[in-house]
Amino acid sequence: MMAIRELKVCLLGDTGVGKSSIVCRFVQDHFDHNISPTIGASMTKTVPCGNELHKFLIWDTAGQERFHSLAPMYYRGSAAAVIVYDITKQDSFHTLKKWVKELKEHGPENIVMAIAGNKCDLSDIREVPLKDAKEYAESIGAVVVETSAKNAINIEELFQGISRQIPPLDPHENG
Ligand code: GDP
Repeated sequence: MMAIRELKVCLLGDTGVGKSSIVCRFVQDHFDHNISPTIGASMTKTVPCGNELHKFLIWDTAGQERFHSLAPMYYRGSAAAVIVYDITKQDSFHTLKKWVKELKEHGPENIVMAIAGNKCDLSDIREVPLKDAKEYAESIGAVVVETSAKNAINIEELFQGISRQIPPLDPHENG
Protein backbone atom coordinates (compact mmCIF):
# COMPACT_ATOMS: atom_id res chain seq x y z
CA MET A 1 0.00 0.00 0.00
CA MET A 2 1.31 3.39 -0.96
CA ALA A 3 1.08 6.01 1.75
CA ILE A 4 -0.63 9.23 0.67
CA ARG A 5 0.95 12.40 2.02
CA GLU A 6 -0.86 15.68 1.80
CA LEU A 7 1.52 18.51 1.02
CA LYS A 8 0.32 22.06 1.17
CA VAL A 9 2.03 24.20 -1.45
CA CYS A 10 1.58 27.96 -1.51
CA LEU A 11 2.22 30.15 -4.54
CA LEU A 12 4.02 33.46 -4.39
CA GLY A 13 5.03 36.07 -6.92
CA ASP A 14 3.87 39.26 -8.61
CA THR A 15 0.47 39.59 -10.21
CA GLY A 16 0.63 38.52 -13.85
CA VAL A 17 3.67 36.24 -13.67
CA GLY A 18 1.45 33.20 -14.31
CA LYS A 19 0.77 31.63 -10.90
CA SER A 20 -2.81 30.63 -11.67
CA SER A 21 -1.79 29.47 -15.14
CA ILE A 22 0.88 27.17 -13.71
CA VAL A 23 -1.63 25.60 -11.33
CA CYS A 24 -4.19 25.24 -14.09
CA ARG A 25 -1.63 23.56 -16.37
CA PHE A 26 -0.42 21.24 -13.60
CA VAL A 27 -3.85 20.22 -12.30
CA GLN A 28 -6.00 20.34 -15.43
CA ASP A 29 -3.42 20.33 -18.24
CA HIS A 30 -5.15 23.36 -19.63
CA PHE A 31 -4.17 26.95 -20.53
CA ASP A 32 -6.58 29.85 -20.72
CA HIS A 33 -5.49 33.43 -21.47
CA ASN A 34 -8.37 34.80 -19.40
CA ILE A 35 -7.93 32.66 -16.32
CA SER A 36 -9.67 34.04 -13.24
CA PRO A 37 -7.44 34.61 -10.22
CA THR A 38 -9.57 32.48 -7.92
CA ILE A 39 -9.56 29.40 -10.10
CA GLY A 40 -6.47 28.01 -8.41
CA ALA A 41 -7.93 28.14 -4.90
CA SER A 42 -7.55 24.73 -3.23
CA MET A 43 -6.64 22.74 -6.34
CA THR A 44 -5.16 19.28 -5.78
CA LYS A 45 -3.14 16.76 -7.72
CA THR A 46 -1.60 13.48 -6.59
CA VAL A 47 1.69 12.23 -8.03
CA PRO A 48 3.84 9.19 -7.18
CA CYS A 49 7.16 9.76 -5.43
CA GLY A 50 9.17 6.67 -4.55
CA ASN A 51 6.92 4.45 -2.43
CA GLU A 52 4.63 7.33 -1.52
CA LEU A 53 1.94 9.37 -3.18
CA HIS A 54 2.25 13.12 -2.85
CA LYS A 55 -1.09 14.86 -2.82
CA PHE A 56 -0.37 18.52 -3.51
CA LEU A 57 -2.91 20.92 -2.02
CA ILE A 58 -2.16 24.08 -3.92
CA TRP A 59 -3.03 27.47 -2.49
CA ASP A 60 -3.21 30.37 -4.91
CA THR A 61 -3.12 33.95 -3.66
CA ALA A 62 -6.38 34.86 -5.40
CA GLY A 63 -5.00 38.33 -6.08
CA GLN A 64 -4.07 39.15 -2.47
CA GLU A 65 -0.38 39.40 -3.45
CA ARG A 66 -0.95 42.90 -4.81
CA PHE A 67 -0.98 44.10 -1.18
CA HIS A 68 2.59 42.74 -0.95
CA SER A 69 1.78 40.83 2.17
CA LEU A 70 -0.28 37.73 2.77
CA ALA A 71 -2.02 36.59 5.94
CA PRO A 72 0.19 34.24 8.03
CA MET A 73 -2.56 31.64 7.58
CA TYR A 74 -1.61 31.49 3.93
CA TYR A 75 1.80 30.04 4.78
CA ARG A 76 0.79 27.98 7.81
CA GLY A 77 1.45 24.26 7.44
CA SER A 78 3.00 24.63 4.00
CA ALA A 79 5.47 21.93 3.01
CA ALA A 80 6.61 23.94 0.02
CA ALA A 81 6.33 27.27 -1.74
CA VAL A 82 6.48 27.89 -5.47
CA ILE A 83 7.82 31.38 -6.05
CA VAL A 84 7.18 32.58 -9.58
CA TYR A 85 8.72 35.33 -11.68
CA ASP A 86 8.29 36.19 -15.36
CA ILE A 87 11.53 35.77 -17.37
CA THR A 88 10.48 38.75 -19.55
CA LYS A 89 10.15 41.10 -16.52
CA GLN A 90 13.24 42.01 -14.54
CA ASP A 91 10.97 43.69 -11.96
CA SER A 92 9.25 40.41 -11.20
CA PHE A 93 12.63 38.80 -10.46
CA HIS A 94 13.48 41.69 -8.16
CA THR A 95 10.17 41.26 -6.28
CA LEU A 96 10.77 37.51 -6.05
CA LYS A 97 13.52 38.29 -3.58
CA LYS A 98 11.06 40.24 -1.44
CA TRP A 99 8.71 37.25 -1.48
CA VAL A 100 11.50 34.97 -0.32
CA LYS A 101 12.24 37.36 2.53
CA GLU A 102 8.57 37.45 3.51
CA LEU A 103 8.50 33.64 3.38
CA LYS A 104 11.52 33.38 5.64
CA GLU A 105 9.87 35.72 8.14
CA HIS A 106 6.37 34.28 8.12
CA GLY A 107 6.62 30.81 6.61
CA PRO A 108 7.38 27.45 8.28
CA GLU A 109 11.04 26.90 9.09
CA ASN A 110 11.91 23.99 6.82
CA ILE A 111 9.71 24.95 3.91
CA VAL A 112 10.91 23.67 0.51
CA MET A 113 11.35 26.53 -1.94
CA ALA A 114 10.98 26.08 -5.69
CA ILE A 115 11.52 29.00 -8.05
CA ALA A 116 9.74 29.05 -11.41
CA GLY A 117 10.95 31.39 -14.15
CA ASN A 118 7.70 31.35 -16.09
CA LYS A 119 6.87 32.33 -19.70
CA CYS A 120 10.00 30.67 -21.09
CA ASP A 121 8.13 30.40 -24.40
CA LEU A 122 8.89 34.14 -24.68
CA SER A 123 12.67 33.76 -24.39
CA ASP A 124 13.22 36.10 -27.38
CA ILE A 125 12.11 38.98 -25.12
CA ARG A 126 13.84 37.60 -22.03
CA GLU A 127 15.08 40.09 -19.40
CA VAL A 128 16.29 37.64 -16.74
CA PRO A 129 19.19 35.31 -17.61
CA LEU A 130 18.76 31.76 -16.32
CA LYS A 131 22.24 32.05 -14.84
CA ASP A 132 21.05 34.85 -12.49
CA ALA A 133 18.14 32.73 -11.31
CA LYS A 134 20.36 29.70 -10.75
CA GLU A 135 22.86 31.70 -8.73
CA TYR A 136 20.14 33.22 -6.60
CA ALA A 137 18.37 29.88 -6.09
CA GLU A 138 21.59 28.26 -5.00
CA SER A 139 22.27 31.07 -2.52
CA ILE A 140 18.95 30.43 -0.75
CA GLY A 141 18.87 26.63 -1.14
CA ALA A 142 15.95 26.58 -3.56
CA VAL A 143 15.38 24.53 -6.68
CA VAL A 144 14.81 26.48 -9.89
CA VAL A 145 13.37 25.70 -13.30
CA GLU A 146 12.16 27.75 -16.25
CA THR A 147 8.54 26.96 -17.09
CA SER A 148 5.88 27.72 -19.63
CA ALA A 149 2.30 27.23 -18.48
CA LYS A 150 1.30 28.11 -22.03
CA ASN A 151 3.37 25.45 -23.80
CA ALA A 152 3.42 22.95 -20.90
CA ILE A 153 7.18 23.12 -20.41
CA ASN A 154 8.70 21.92 -17.10
CA ILE A 155 5.44 22.21 -15.12
CA GLU A 156 5.53 18.56 -14.00
CA GLU A 157 9.28 18.92 -13.37
CA LEU A 158 8.65 21.90 -11.10
CA PHE A 159 6.51 19.77 -8.78
CA GLN A 160 8.82 16.75 -9.11
CA GLY A 161 11.59 19.06 -7.93
CA ILE A 162 9.53 19.74 -4.80
CA SER A 163 8.78 16.04 -4.26
CA ARG A 164 12.47 15.22 -4.36
CA GLN A 165 13.16 17.71 -1.56
CA ILE A 166 10.53 16.22 0.77
CA PRO A 167 12.16 13.60 3.01
CA PRO A 168 10.37 10.21 2.78
CA LEU A 169 8.41 9.10 5.86
CA ASP A 170 10.18 5.74 5.89
CA PRO A 171 13.63 6.13 4.33
CA HIS A 172 14.16 2.33 4.31
CA GLU A 173 11.23 1.76 2.02
CA ASN A 174 12.13 4.46 -0.44
CA GLY A 175 14.88 4.15 -2.90
P1 GDP B 1 -1.06 35.40 -11.88
O1 GDP B 1 -1.61 36.77 -11.66
O2 GDP B 1 0.34 35.29 -11.40
O3 GDP B 1 -1.93 34.30 -11.35
O4 GDP B 1 -0.94 35.22 -13.48
P2 GDP B 1 -1.98 34.53 -14.51
O5 GDP B 1 -1.89 33.05 -14.41
O6 GDP B 1 -3.32 35.18 -14.35
O7 GDP B 1 -1.30 34.96 -15.90
C1 GDP B 1 -1.11 36.33 -16.26
C2 GDP B 1 -1.05 36.46 -17.77
O8 GDP B 1 0.11 35.80 -18.27
C3 GDP B 1 -2.25 35.81 -18.47
O9 GDP B 1 -2.59 36.61 -19.58
C4 GDP B 1 -1.70 34.48 -18.94
O10 GDP B 1 -2.36 34.02 -20.07
C5 GDP B 1 -0.25 34.82 -19.24
N1 GDP B 1 0.65 33.65 -19.06
C6 GDP B 1 0.71 32.82 -18.00
N2 GDP B 1 1.63 31.88 -18.18
C7 GDP B 1 2.19 32.11 -19.40
C8 GDP B 1 3.24 31.45 -20.16
O11 GDP B 1 3.83 30.44 -19.75
N3 GDP B 1 3.54 32.00 -21.37
C9 GDP B 1 2.90 33.11 -21.87
N4 GDP B 1 3.28 33.56 -23.06
N5 GDP B 1 1.92 33.74 -21.17
C10 GDP B 1 1.57 33.25 -19.96
